[in-house]
Amino acid sequence: MILRKLYFLFKIINNPKKDEVRLKELQNRKLRKMIRHAYNNVPYYHELFDKSGLKPKDIRTAEDLGRIPITEKEDLISMGDLMLSQKIKINRCRTRFTSGSTGNPHKIVFDRVADDYGHATDLRSLFQNGYKFNKRLLEVTHPRHISNPTIMQRLGLHRTKLVSIFDSPEEIIRQIIEYKPHFLKAYPSVLRMLADKASGKVFGLEKIFTTSELLSGADRNRIVNRLGADVIDLYGSVEFPRIAWECEKHEGYHIDIDSVIVEVIRDGKTVHEGTGDIVVTGLYNKAMPLIRYRIGDIGMISGKERCSCGRSFPLLHSIRGRCNDRIILPSGREVDPIALYSAESLFGIKSFRIIQEKPDFFKVEVVKGNKSMAEIRQSFNKSIRKAAGKDKVRIAIRAVKHIKSDRSGKFRCIISMINKRSTKKEARK
Ligand SMILES: [Zn+2]
Repeated sequence: MILRKLYFLFKIINNPKKDEVRLKELQNRKLRKMIRHAYNNVPYYHELFDKSGLKPKDIRTAEDLGRIPITEKEDLISMGDLMLSQKIKINRCRTRFTSGSTGNPHKIVFDRVADDYGHATDLRSLFQNGYKFNKRLLEVTHPRHISNPTIMQRLGLHRTKLVSIFDSPEEIIRQIIEYKPHFLKAYPSVLRMLADKASGKVFGLEKIFTTSELLSGADRNRIVNRLGADVIDLYGSVEFPRIAWECEKHEGYHIDIDSVIVEVIRDGKTVHEGTGDIVVTGLYNKAMPLIRYRIGDIGMISGKERCSCGRSFPLLHSIRGRCNDRIILPSGREVDPIALYSAESLFGIKSFRIIQEKPDFFKVEVVKGNKSMAEIRQSFNKSIRKAAGKDKVRIAIRAVKHIKSDRSGKFRCIISMINKRSTKKEARK
């Protein structure tokens, strides 16, 4: 509902600048409400709490969350409708599917209110970076979003032109020149292609928003230089449309603490410095609450929580291994996907993909740049063997003309073909 969406946007738009203590109070209030709702209405969480000897009153603040076991993507698949609130009318909800390019896609159900709120959080991250309704935005996106524009877009309130990610870079550039957007939003892999074809063209963009894929420092520089505007990276997922976003200072990602709780977990414990799995608790979707949900990305928290921009939303330092699969070695040890390649291995190539075909077998596909195959082999061999440590692995590296995106059009540079559950079981043996 368009009015509700605007109401939410109006209500939350200035939260990033509000007093931190008040924001924490708001977050904890929303958390308590969500925990009570999930325990009383969602069979999966009712059982999970009972099994863990927990009652809703035990979870008062974000600091208490550690007592609740983590929910995995596999739980969503195996539990099915037991993840849904028994109070909702499913035919009044909106269902979205995660891309699940190598595993099973799974459904995420939003009640209408949550759907509008989620969209408002997405819009807020743009507004925090200079976007306004009277500015033009060109978004390169999956064709399904083009056939299904939102009411706001149809009414011209959210001036957006949607272009298919499957169009050629030349065609996308033609549309940018014709539409003259103030803002451009696309996956880094699409922008990388545009940057390669854009030399000498002036687009007059104010800012470029990137989403959904890992944005490397090298890509960011190339996009900024060739397309001529600052890049603002946004972090979200199908489950949580917006989780965190960059501001003009680029000191990290401001976490939407009025909508989600983000934890970085390593060896089962929340860390306040270093890398770990990103675990998210949603504070607004009553149809399908997700509490301590391991989203599948790896994040880094630096201990520096404040940004010099003055906004009080705390910082997640960086997102690493985003949308990549988890890599579990034959010994059961998990490695940070980003450790499989180094800055050195990325230099002098155009693109790459690492596929873990068997626990001990990695296939690397590389689109060559100006570096020789011998040098490319050497650098990938070095980084993968270093990451594998004591695990013995085989590596096959070959040059390819181009690397295809997955079905959703996203480009993922690290893929594991191994069924994660069986690997975990093997690891426990
Ligand atoms: Zn900032």
